[in-house]
Amino acid sequence: MGVFEAVAGDGHEQIVYGYDQVSGLQAIIAIHSTALGPALGGTRFFSYESEAAALEDVLRLAKGMTYKAAAAGLDLGGGKAVIIGDPREDKSERLFRAYGRIVDSLQGRYITAEDVGTTTFDMDTVRRETRWALGVSVALGGAGDPSPITARGLFAAARAVAQNLWDDSDLAGRRFAVQGVGKVGSAFVQLLVEARAEVVVTDAYEPAITRAVEIYDVKAVAPEEIYEVDCDFFSPCAMGATLNEKTIPLLSCRAIVGSANNQLATDEDADRLADRGILYAPDFVVNAGGLINVYDELHGYSKTRALHRVDGIYEATRNILETAEEHGIHPNEAAVRVADERIREIGDLRRFRRSGDDRN
Ligand code: NAD
Repeated sequence: MGVFEAVAGDGHEQIVYGYDQVSGLQAIIAIHSTALGPALGGTRFFSYESEAAALEDVLRLAKGMTYKAAAAGLDLGGGKAVIIGDPREDKSERLFRAYGRIVDSLQGRYITAEDVGTTTFDMDTVRRETRWALGVSVALGGAGDPSPITARGLFAAARAVAQNLWDDSDLAGRRFAVQGVGKVGSAFVQLLVEARAEVVVTDAYEPAITRAVEIYDVKAVAPEEIYEVDCDFFSPCAMGATLNEKTIPLLSCRAIVGSANNQLATDEDADRLADRGILYAPDFVVNAGGLINVYDELHGYSKTRALHRVDGIYEATRNILETAEEHGIHPNEAAVRVADERIREIGDLRRFRRSGDDRN
């Protein structure tokens, strides 16, 4: 597929290729939409098999960010960037500064942050060349690791789902099966245990399980057993696509609330879950806490304001579940509708330019 064809498919606005011969930088920035505001999305550093695979990934991720920001009610569009390379081998100051110059050339149409393969330290380096880099360290006015805030958003979403299913948002006594106890999963487990929920965890990395069991006094199972745990909530907090035709028949839960991106392997998996009577809280709605947190850096980071906005995930989730019920559609589809509606209603306003508005 040619680049123009790829862009046209999902209505992306712009793709920028960045190259620096000295450092070996090969970056692609995709701007899906700036209808609601500047396109904010992290930079993924990954050894893609080919340039085509990198392009496909960045386009998909950029579009996902448009929906995540719109569903969270933020004044942000959607974009994403990828750097092709091995994050353990190919990073250098020169590479990130060259990348920063390219981000800067977009004058705020695209704002970057960390993602898989990039760190707060890397963003600090990018920041030396552009103010359009977020997720920088606290010393530079950033917010630090967003994972505990993402977990707080998940907790709010789980309460909203409980309210919807049982008319009671209290999670005490509810049973959770948490897949992946890394940065977000373990912070989520902590909140659940504090709320007196019952928790069963797993992780592909044995020391992560041991740590969770020791610190939070929770039960653990082997990674392949987590799907069958009898529970109220299954929480995918590891990798994407873990809800698929093989795993969905194994599930023994009433609802799904987790942080992983792109949890459904295919669109049909939303039907599979609905057929089994399992309520799926859309990943891009419930895991928006991290995005909300970096967004706040744009206005001079205030933790109080960021937490207040993250707690809004409760209402956002309720709203989407109610829209789904009202129209007889899946929550995932309802979330896309809510986001589309917002883009239509508010996005149009940006044709009125303010003087001094330098962000497109
Ligand atoms: P992390 O790398 O700290 O944790 C992921 C954990 O999942 C690791 O402990 C890993 O060993 C485990 N894991 C991997 N494959 C597994 C498998 N098959 N079964 C069980 N465990 C497995 O990552 P994180 O920052 O906690 O993010 C978790 C997920 O949430 C990712 O999909 C990420 O994209 C998404 N997410 C994170 C944030 C954030 O603020 N960190 C925000 C939004 C979305």
